[in-house]
Amino acid sequence: MKFHNDHADFFVPDGVEPGAAIERTTHLCISAHQDDIEIMAYHGVAECFGRSNRWFSGVVVTNGAGSPRSGIYGDYTDEQMQKVRLVEQRKAAYVGDYACQIQLGYSSAQVKNAAETAVVDDLKRILLAARPEVVYLHNLADKHDTHIGVALRSLAALRAVAAETKPRKVYGCEVWRDLDWMVDDDKQALAASERSNIAAALVGVFDSQVSGGKRYDLATAGRRLAHATYFASHGTDQESAMNFAMDLTPLVENPGLSIADYVLGFVDRFRADVARRLPK
Ligand SMILES: [Zn+2]
Repeated sequence: MKFHNDHADFFVPDGVEPGAAIERTTHLCISAHQDDIEIMAYHGVAECFGRSNRWFSGVVVTNGAGSPRSGIYGDYTDEQMQKVRLVEQRKAAYVGDYACQIQLGYSSAQVKNAAETAVVDDLKRILLAARPEVVYLHNLADKHDTHIGVALRSLAALRAVAAETKPRKVYGCEVWRDLDWMVDDDKQALAASERSNIAAALVGVFDSQVSGGKRYDLATAGRRLAHATYFASHGTDQESAMNFAMDLTPLVENPGLSIADYVLGFVDRFRADVARRLPK
């Protein structure tokens, strides 16, 4: 597949020819950075792991430039660090049995620029080739501007090819801000209990981030356990790990729907839920 950046990376863990590799995709995650996929979309990885009729593919839009670095990575140049992060993402794709892993190599500034058509073009090409049933994006209440940028460019691409691709479900997932605050009726509860060994390994391979002092491995597992435990106040836990997602499917099915109004609707329902438990 041809992308705008010459250095874009297309990796197929099982060595199948690229066209066939992406065509088998049923579950697709589009994330901003290396390691976001493994934090936000483990549900999709677990749904597909080891199955012949379901395949998970990952897309990382940015190049990992400007990542924090310490320890053995402390004196790495920005270019060396980008290489480390690219290889780490390939390791995750191998461990997670992905259909393919695409890294588009854009800068954060390009991703955040709504007038940059190259990002949307690449994403449209991927969506048309993959025709996923389920899509995982960053949620639109995330606090990282690059995550929001990637989610907005992804929605633009999804809207542009909606007639040809028709994904059954589009989820907005948790990385930099979880979704426990949403009212329970709005929460899309995504099971993440299966194969905790693989779930742990997937976040664990990003050594440059974890040993840089941020324990994403422990925090990700902790968030999933907390969600599973606190989701329902009675009854026993069906799941030992869970992620929450925001349903973004209506934004794709109805391109006229205002993105801001739709997302603020979740906030309004949360506000009303808090207000109704308190004296007037
Ligand atoms: Zn990120």
